[in-house]
Amino acid sequence: MVFFPLARESLGVGIRDLRRTLGESAYLVAVVEEKLGPDWFERALDLGADDVLTDIDEAEVARCLSRARKGLERVRRVEDEVGQVTLERDYLQACIDHLPTPIFFKNVEGIYVGCNGAFAEYLGRPLETILGASVYDIAPPEIARRYQAADDALFDSGGAQVYESKVCHSNGDMRFVEFQKAVIKSRNQGVYGIAGAILDITDRKRLEMQLIDAAERDPLTNAYNRRKFFQLAEDVSEWARNGPRPVSVAVIDVDQFKLINDRLGHSEGDNVLCTVSQVLEATSGEDNIVARAGGEEFYALFPGVSLKAAATIADEMRREVERFCRVDGLSAVAGTVSVGLAQFDPKSESLDDALKRADSALYLAKREGRNCLRLAL
Ligand code: GH3
Ligand code: MG
Ligand code: MG
Repeated sequence: MVFFPLARESLGVGIRDLRRTLGESAYLVAVVEEKLGPDWFERALDLGADDVLTDIDEAEVARCLSRARKGLERVRRVEDEVGQVTLERDYLQACIDHLPTPIFFKNVEGIYVGCNGAFAEYLGRPLETILGASVYDIAPPEIARRYQAADDALFDSGGAQVYESKVCHSNGDMRFVEFQKAVIKSRNQGVYGIAGAILDITDRKRLEMQLIDAAERDPLTNAYNRRKFFQLAEDVSEWARNGPRPVSVAVIDVDQFKLINDRLGHSEGDNVLCTVSQVLEATSGEDNIVARAGGEEFYALFPGVSLKAAATIADEMRREVERFCRVDGLSAVAGTVSVGLAQFDPKSESLDDALKRADSALYLAKREGRNCLRLAL
């Protein structure tokens, strides 16, 4: 504690010099002449004195000491509280920093106010450059707008939000992630902002896609399997029933495939099936569906396509198979397909019946020399 008498004219300079010399921890008591009045007391306090005395008699000094002691106790309490808060903050930061899941906090203005090391690593930028930034500072505008819209929806709903997304990791990998976000509220229900975690679900997603593929696709050719074909055909039939929309269906069979197997071996036969499947798929047109029905037989479905238009596409498919298989050097053996085609109206005929008619047309194509297309009656 320092008592310092000051002249009126040097009050400001004197207090500032003392503060600079003694440092923030000194308790400065200005002794001001009483006759200068309360304005000067206030000024001394404003300039940085901790207390003001008019007399240095014993009682005044005792009161001054008591005020200083109370002030000091208050400062210690605040310091303790700040220390405690710092400890808790460091503890929480250490907790989230040790978790491998990227975690972040944003305030109601969408500014990142906290995150862990995993989040910084995910974004590929130092943690300090994330804090104080918004999503627009760290993501391309289009993606930032999408995330901001999700945050806005979350603030509106007020609860938690879980959604999947595809993101580019800072190491360049495309990853599937699940965002788990929640609105954070104070005890009195004031909104602090949003807390979020990013769970990497790439492995699960890949497994899911593999399972879907295994259920829907033929393992050899990767074409849709028979079951998927009938599911899609049911959707197409439903769509066609809602209007006068034609649907055509084709049965496509590889010619003399047994010969291919016998002469080139089963494994080469498999390769031919893959080539045929790819050519049929590539030439069928965007909205049309090709599936492996089984063995060396394929189905094609042409939603909204009349018999005449479907015949043009199907014959093109047939010619392309012939061209590709010749390129593959198989024409000496075979490497062509025959096609039976039928148009049907799902309002009055089942797909099974239409397939039977297409099959009869295919039988005709086989009888009439193969590598050709025949239309069903
Ligand atoms: P057609 O021109 O009359 O259709 O004669 P084809 O020889 O093609 O017909 P067939 O029904 O006599 O023979 C089909 C052959 O297809 C018999 C079967 O062993 C073979 N096959 C069925 N599935 C597969 C497969 O996944 N891989 C291989 N390599 N062959 C298969
Ligand atoms: Mg055949
Ligand atoms: Mg067959």
